[in-house]
Amino acid sequence: MPRSKNAVITGGGRGIGAAVARSLAAAGVSVLVSARSEDEIEATAQNLRDSGAEAWAVAADVTDSESVARLHDRALGLMGQVDILVNNAGIAAASPLPKIRLSDWDRLFAVNVRGTFLCTQAFLPAMAERGWGRVVNIASIAGRMGAPYISAYAATKHAVVGFTRSLAMEYAPTGVTVNAVGPGYVATSMVDAAVENISAKTGLDAAAARASLSEQSPQKRLYTPEEVAFLVATLCDELAGGINGQCVLLDGGSVQA
Ligand code: NAP
Repeated sequence: MPRSKNAVITGGGRGIGAAVARSLAAAGVSVLVSARSEDEIEATAQNLRDSGAEAWAVAADVTDSESVARLHDRALGLMGQVDILVNNAGIAAASPLPKIRLSDWDRLFAVNVRGTFLCTQAFLPAMAERGWGRVVNIASIAGRMGAPYISAYAATKHAVVGFTRSLAMEYAPTGVTVNAVGPGYVATSMVDAAVENISAKTGLDAAAARASLSEQSPQKRLYTPEEVAFLVATLCDELAGGINGQCVLLDGGSVQA
């Protein structure tokens, strides 16, 4: 990992984003974590500072262009420049087609797709001008395959993968790489909410509902935020400069093409 690099991680207050912040900080990167919940991002940044890292917290809503513009300006004010952007902020929902509310459809696209677009547009061009950068978008295995009841979520993550692939080509000559990672189910509050949803809709108890998610991996388990963070940090490494336009899956091998 190149030292003296600066990273912005959206959705960095908990779950995968907080683990990515820890992983990059452990590699010597200065990190700025962002999300809407100030208490969570402040706690993440404080923990990192306590362990000797340089870390800041800046609240922002990735769906709001003015909020993202303020995040951009604040990040430059605190860090001078941003070399690594991890578009991790995201939400999930599951519903059969007839029950998908338009407001839920729009909200999923606003956070997962518009948010990724706004942050990338804010930070990537300056990386290209300097000739070095890493953008990592947290997609999902649902960006590479479909499954019942997640059509809206899967549509957003397929959009993120298409955005990733196209920008990777657009910026390939500049020294900036743009990649995605596609985890299967990861043990975070997002999966806790999915477990509650499954229990409410099927009557399964929480353990059985959680097991139904683990069963979807050939390895019969959930993945950890640290496993995703390891992959993200690897893609941000100096030696990963040839990896571009990929959606690297972390799913135990369920999708192999
Ligand atoms: P999580 O624990 O719910 O964390 C999501 C993060 O995104 C939180 O910090 C949240 O903070 C932030 N966020 C949500 N809406 C936001 C907004 N409008 N503006 C700014 N930040 C916002 O979820 P996670 O499991 O760590 O998921 C992180 C990413 O991984 C998501 O993109 C998700 O789709 C993807 N993923 C998750 C799984 C899984 O099974 N967990 C699997 C594959 C992919 P605030 O609510 O405070 O804003």
